[in-house]
Amino acid sequence: MQDNNNSIHQFDYSLICEYFASLHRQGPGSDTATLRALSFLPVQAAGTQIIDIGCGTGASTMVLAHATNAHITAVDLFEDFLTMLNHKATAAGIDHRVTAQKADMNELPFADESFDVVWSEGAIYNVGFQRGISLWRRLIKPDGYLVVSEATWSTVTRPQEIQLFWEEAYPEIDLVSAKVKHLEEAGYQVIATFQLPYSAWEDFYRPAQAAQQHFLESHPENAIALELVANQRHEAEIFGKYHQYYGYTFFVAKKVGL
Ligand code: SAH
Repeated sequence: MQDNNNSIHQFDYSLICEYFASLHRQGPGSDTATLRALSFLPVQAAGTQIIDIGCGTGASTMVLAHATNAHITAVDLFEDFLTMLNHKATAAGIDHRVTAQKADMNELPFADESFDVVWSEGAIYNVGFQRGISLWRRLIKPDGYLVVSEATWSTVTRPQEIQLFWEEAYPEIDLVSAKVKHLEEAGYQVIATFQLPYSAWEDFYRPAQAAQQHFLESHPENAIALELVANQRHEAEIFGKYHQYYGYTFFVAKKVGL
């Protein structure tokens, strides 16, 4: 959900939400990658508290809830997403372990050291990586964990078109090594990093094509819908052309120090 187009943002969030709600995930990711990141953490016993920040409709929340006995607090700005997550959790019979709560990731309303694990897939860019990892650190219990996925460069140099695309979309994109350094400087020990595989991006972009078609048919000649879909298609084209130069990386880190 990486559109920084101000003209869209000024108009109407409900259309944007409607489109993204029609996708299984609101950003590139996969259940396999969620489980892989989880595998680096100690087994999450009953009573473990996880927060999934920028949960969207809760694809990762549901994977975490099924794979652990933890309690998951799932937060997002958009209530429609949270309603969908609540339906999923109820249908799966795990609603007693999932609390969906509307909150802004810039000012999360939770006490210090409330969570064993802070989790956030494809969402920290909304607050910025460096800002997010330091802002959220206080929420983590001593020796607790942070798991985030974030846009990263795969190469030191790259074609100008992809450089300019990311400079506009998210200038904080950087090499994995730079992100690791930021984590270390912010008081984390990095346990693991791995890149989201190509297949997870395909699984995001392929079903999106049908969703875009359906969305356009539901909102004929709507300028916001047209612009949103054009942006999404451009993003997918850029990925097809330049995916060897960038990706999403999972960072699994442990809170260390004071
Ligand atoms: N983690 C989900 C969604 C990723 S898309 C997934 O992987 O599928 C990014 C999510 O961040 C969206 O659901 C968006 O609504 C949410 N978001 C954006 N700004 C936010 C903010 N300030 N506070 C909380 N959530 C926010």
